Amino acid sequence: MEKHSSWQKYYYYGYAMEHREWDGCVGLEGPLGAGSSQFQILTPPRVWPNDLRICELIHEDYAGWNVAKLRDVQSNEVEAILSIPLVSNARKDKIMWHYTKNGIYSVKTGYRVAKQAQGLSCDSTSSSGNDCKIWRWMWRLEIPPEVKIFLWKCLKNILPVKCALARRGIGMDTICSRCGGEEETAVHALRDCPWVSFAWKISPLRIETDRHARRGDLADWIVWMAENLNDESHSMFVMLLWSLWRGRNLQIFQGKRVDQIWCLELAASRLEEYTVLNTRLRVPIQRPVEKNEKWEPPNFPAIKINSDASIVAEVGTGMGLILRDHEGQVQGALSKFQTINMAVDEAEAWACREGVQLALAKGIRNVVLELDNMNVVSALARNEKNFSYFGNIIEDIQQLLLDFSSVSFNWVRRSSNCVAHHLARHAFSFSPIESDSGIIPQNISDLIMGEVSHLMH
Ligand SMILES: [Zn+2]
Repeated sequence: MEKHSSWQKYYYYGYAMEHREWDGCVGLEGPLGAGSSQFQILTPPRVWPNDLRICELIHEDYAGWNVAKLRDVQSNEVEAILSIPLVSNARKDKIMWHYTKNGIYSVKTGYRVAKQAQGLSCDSTSSSGNDCKIWRWMWRLEIPPEVKIFLWKCLKNILPVKCALARRGIGMDTICSRCGGEEETAVHALRDCPWVSFAWKISPLRIETDRHARRGDLADWIVWMAENLNDESHSMFVMLLWSLWRGRNLQIFQGKRVDQIWCLELAASRLEEYTVLNTRLRVPIQRPVEKNEKWEPPNFPAIKINSDASIVAEVGTGMGLILRDHEGQVQGALSKFQTINMAVDEAEAWACREGVQLALAKGIRNVVLELDNMNVVSALARNEKNFSYFGNIIEDIQQLLLDFSSVSFNWVRRSSNCVAHHLARHAFSFSPIESDSGIIPQNISDLIMGEVSHLMH
């Protein structure tokens, strides 16, 4: 990487603020970097003192950003900075590569970024002119077969949207049932509809569709996205297309209205499921065997911590976690809301960390960490450096876990992480739960009962 002006160094990559002795309080990727290629703060250098160190903006005990100091600066990026979560103690500076998932540089991504920087990336190629390449791309994607077929239909422009059906004399109504405002063409149904465009915006890929050129059809857009997205995001992009279509069909054919979060969750869980079945992981992680598996209690004396997170863009992040013993007895629970918009893995890691901290505070020393997020579970289980954008939280957790006598990690399907999931959702009701107060809302305690009921016969 070339040398940058001292200013750029502060915020290069949004979070890898590696200026001078900036005491290692590396924050995590927040809105500055998430999903965009714009990693630096845009405020002119003169607004910030020239010799400012990031650690000066953080309270001494790492409890949070020094809001008063930051407000002094009067930059409209202060909010963005404040939304970068901090880890609990000092870390050494490190340089991360944003374009790979693990934050470690690869020649392939380097080449692509360099090409893009030179403006050599392929411009809007039409789907027909670029046939070979796009089909090769499609077949290589690691996505479930039904999703591949769906993608093939998109690229062939044969998705049965209302306009296409009307042209063939099937059905008269051509208005989009989600917004009721415009004709339902394929590109409207999956990109331009305001409902859908909001889903893209809050998705883990943070795609701002309204900033994209409105020319071309759906196939053109997919080709363009295939060329411009990070390699790591391709599968998720297609999964989201598919889940948005699934949501649309549910509404039209079954009268069932689902929200954007439902679509995002469907995309993530289906991809996760597929990936787990198709990838051999480097570390053995207990994997679910049955299809509809239930929550299982840990072996005595371990305490199982189920955690989960829920994100609503522009609103915040909810975290939920529950500690239970070998008899399924609740040893602690937390439902916490933060007005920070985190990326999914980051939020899930954060929830897990809260769980570990709560266990520590309660004097628990044997834990099973159970999550439904494969990225976080495998990052935790791998005992190697993690340079990804949630790597700092992972390291933080690994640090905390040194104080335990036994630790194991468990990935489960969403269906057996129900209580944590609902606790995370509950956080948005703005009535935080700390189980030490003894109050757990009825619907949550019903869920807890439901999860252990199979243990009673
Ligand atoms: Zn619409």
